[in-house]
Amino acid sequence: MLQTLSDLPQEIVFGPWVLALLGLAVGSFLNVVIFRMPLILERQWWADVASQLADRDSFRRVFRAEAPAGVTQAGSALTKTLASLKRLSIAQPGSACPACGHRLRWFENIPVASWIALGRRCSACKTPISARYPLVETGVALLFGVTAWRLGGHASVLLWCGFGATLVALAVIDWDTTVLPDALTLPLLWAGVCTAAFGWLPALTLQRSIEGVVVGYLSLWAVYWLFKLATGKEGMGYGDFKLLAALGAWLGWQAILPIVLFASILGALVGIGMKLTGSLREGRFVPFGPFLAGGGIAVMLIGLGPVLDWLGWG
Ligand SMILES: [Zn+2]
Repeated sequence: MLQTLSDLPQEIVFGPWVLALLGLAVGSFLNVVIFRMPLILERQWWADVASQLADRDSFRRVFRAEAPAGVTQAGSALTKTLASLKRLSIAQPGSACPACGHRLRWFENIPVASWIALGRRCSACKTPISARYPLVETGVALLFGVTAWRLGGHASVLLWCGFGATLVALAVIDWDTTVLPDALTLPLLWAGVCTAAFGWLPALTLQRSIEGVVVGYLSLWAVYWLFKLATGKEGMGYGDFKLLAALGAWLGWQAILPIVLFASILGALVGIGMKLTGSLREGRFVPFGPFLAGGGIAVMLIGLGPVLDWLGWG
């Protein structure tokens, strides 16, 4: 009989079934990140505004005049209002119904199963619970399962699962808010560079990773400025450059062009589709991040070699 976890063969521990289960739990956590991180960031921006309004010295430096009383008063009023808010972080408070604040008990917080068992409604106020939650959970479970099937059998598959999970969070947050938080893109980038530096993935050398960062960042940066100089408009944001730099850190510079091609074509198709069906709200744009993230996941799963062969660049 198997005594400990370490006696189990690696193919099982890091195989599709175990990792799909892990994916369910990680998906449940990502739901919290997806819901809270934009709120936490927005709070932070208000806090920045408040401290800026209250900063008389800074006002004097920039405007060469004393700050009008209204400005500093607004600053201290805002500071007070911010201080009255309940604490919010990824870990605290525990999960609750967004409609009535009902705290979820442990059996109401089991991925997918609770959503079905509760009849897709909050047990306290009966407000429907969004299908987004079980969809993210099953999506990440599927992603981890397929990643293990393609790249599994060894502990290094956990690195790729972390890469994929971060991309899922970034894609959904960008879709919701058109913001790609630095708090996710930059750690993803550094994680790729460190993975390469420590030699944790055989095919990823440090040089290859850094070339990926440079090519990833600069390629979109150049497209951004060409587009801006030609049309006076901004076609994407700096978050997109950082995301593509992070993808380069993990996948190498050769992956950049296939990812951008894939993201541009799919993004354009989705944008046209949304315009035609009228589901694109006025003044809003289709974010690029979800398609870049999708391209990164596709290259991870298919492998760079087959992708380049398929494009005829192999
Ligand atoms: Zn409720």
